[in-house]
Amino acid sequence: MARLVRVARSSSLFGFGNRFYSTSAEASHASSPSPFLHGGGASRVAPKDRNVQWVFLGCPGVGKGTYASRLSTLLGVPHIATGDLVREELASSGPLSQKLSEIVNQGKLVSDEIIVDLLSKRLEAGEARGESGFILDGFPRTMRQAEILGDVTDIDLVVNLKLPEEVLVDKCLGRRTCSQCGKGFNVAHINLKGENGRPGISMDPLLPPHQCMSKLVTRADDTEEVVKARLRIYNETSQPLEEYYRTKGKLMEFDLPGGIPESWPRLLEALRLDDYEEKQSVAA
Ligand code: ADP
Repeated sequence: MARLVRVARSSSLFGFGNRFYSTSAEASHASSPSPFLHGGGASRVAPKDRNVQWVFLGCPGVGKGTYASRLSTLLGVPHIATGDLVREELASSGPLSQKLSEIVNQGKLVSDEIIVDLLSKRLEAGEARGESGFILDGFPRTMRQAEILGDVTDIDLVVNLKLPEEVLVDKCLGRRTCSQCGKGFNVAHINLKGENGRPGISMDPLLPPHQCMSKLVTRADDTEEVVKARLRIYNETSQPLEEYYRTKGKLMEFDLPGGIPESWPRLLEALRLDDYEEKQSVAA
């Protein structure tokens, strides 16, 4: 714990470092204000002198990684997924590896100490590369983690992605990653009918290109039993974070309307970044 606190206090990642925008982005941003980026004085606004510091919350399978990663590319901030840090540690066969694999493969949470240590190391390495700002995905996941984060830095915005519970298991079971290029795909066809006033939801599979097809792998913890355990643990342990950030006025709820083609533009709109994306592509 001390490590995150120490690293964070001295880190530009936590708000005291480089300016976020390049000259061209700054110019385009000036006429394209998003309340989440800077200015205005609201608590979730990123101050002018640093990059955004956002958190993505949401159940396993909701798509945190997909949207956090797209936004990180758009905004030029690192996307830091603690699940990825855990999987890297697992793959490294280091001293923690055996212990972690037992925990992860049962769908349980890694201890706050271990996860804070992995995140600290990632932040430290990023700081050395001159990174500023972040979009956190999968952290915090416990109240203790949220308190530690809150003690060391200001979070501007917490995006809570939501999908009906019925589709989450299918989405997790449909996840595939290309073992060569590392890109994520999803082979699930989601077609949930609307009922009791809830709109239906359909999501086309996100299929890999031909060259990735034979190299697809499935995460060891994406089995039906483990996904159900993860969903249960999310509801018990991580859901209270929604209320915690709602009370602080940081929470933005976002009901995903469908797959990426429907959801991405709507998310940008909700973040008032739709215009920003257009101007970025013109500037590119
Ligand atoms: P999910 O699809 O469940 O959101 P992740 O890729 O975020 O999966 O995480 C995979 C696993 O890594 C989790 O089930 C958990 O064991 C561990 N993990 C990731 N982030 C955290 C965290 N902040 N606290 C504790 N454990 C974590």
